[in-house]
Amino acid sequence: MNISVVIPLLNEEESLPELCAWIQRVMDENGLSYEIILVDDGSTDQSWCVIEQLCTLHSFIKGIKFQRNYGKSAALNEGFKAAQGEVVITMDADLQDSPNEIPELRKMIVEEGYDMVSGWKKKRYDSTLAKNIPSKFFNAVTRRMSKIPLHDFNCGLKAYKRKVIKSIEVYGEMHRYIPVLAKWAGFKRIGEKVVEHRPRKYGVTKFGWERFINGFLDLASIMFVGRFGKRPMHFFGLWGTLSFFIGLLFSVYLIVSKFVDPEYALTNRPAFFIALTLLLLGSQLFLAGFTGELIARNSAERNSYLVEKKLGV
Ligand code: UDP
Ligand code: MG
Repeated sequence: MNISVVIPLLNEEESLPELCAWIQRVMDENGLSYEIILVDDGSTDQSWCVIEQLCTLHSFIKGIKFQRNYGKSAALNEGFKAAQGEVVITMDADLQDSPNEIPELRKMIVEEGYDMVSGWKKKRYDSTLAKNIPSKFFNAVTRRMSKIPLHDFNCGLKAYKRKVIKSIEVYGEMHRYIPVLAKWAGFKRIGEKVVEHRPRKYGVTKFGWERFINGFLDLASIMFVGRFGKRPMHFFGLWGTLSFFIGLLFSVYLIVSKFVDPEYALTNRPAFFIALTLLLLGSQLFLAGFTGELIARNSAERNSYLVEKKLGV
């Protein structure tokens, strides 16, 4: 199978038939074999009924339904598990992403050798203030921290080699950082393609302003987990040692002063409080490091790594 199209959706009943028909048209015109995996993330409208109907009409349409709303990341993750195509495309269900981009995206993966290609909504059709400005800022920070030169990390329209999506786990709200997850998993050839973005035709957006705060918290976690997830002590230990050591220097200075001058009042000096804080902070960080190590060591994923090739074993 050439392509799996994975579509997470929450209350998008009106869009689904149109979207599937459009994808079908594009695939048939290009002679591609494909499947469409619709992942219903706990919709409360008629979305699942529509999916059931579509599935009986077309064998290339498949449906997965969640018990309740778990979020876009969970929906993508479940779709990825089911995907069988050589190239996996993700897109939003609300007709804001154009299926016309699929053949070109696939070409970049198959012929130009990219591991993944991310769409770039260069011209956006969302309300300017609410989305575009925070989004520019968010992308700039992510670009700097991850060193991946993309303009639009959160674009729903993306294409992957199958092995990329089979090697990563998208959880929480990490769908914004799939390029970062892919990079940590060792897939470095990440490309970008300007894609057409369209106004939302039916329904309403599912993400509010909290997306930006959550987004940054997730970015902080992902950078930390990627770098220190398997060796937390190297992070906490470093800062703990540093803090403890500086605290110790202050203490020594205070003790020496006391010996030199017995009248020296220890407890009303700034140095006393600084020493106290730094010593406490240092030992706290150390404890956090040890706890982190224990968790990392007991984790089922302590030894998870990907072997790309083997010869003679
Ligand atoms: N979505 C989902 N689960 C959620 C929220 C959203 O599956 O909890 C889907 C939604 O149905 C759509 C896609 O994720 O297909 C993108 O959502 P939306 O269009 O609301 O985001 P926006 O385009 O406003 O960034
Ligand atoms: Mg949308």
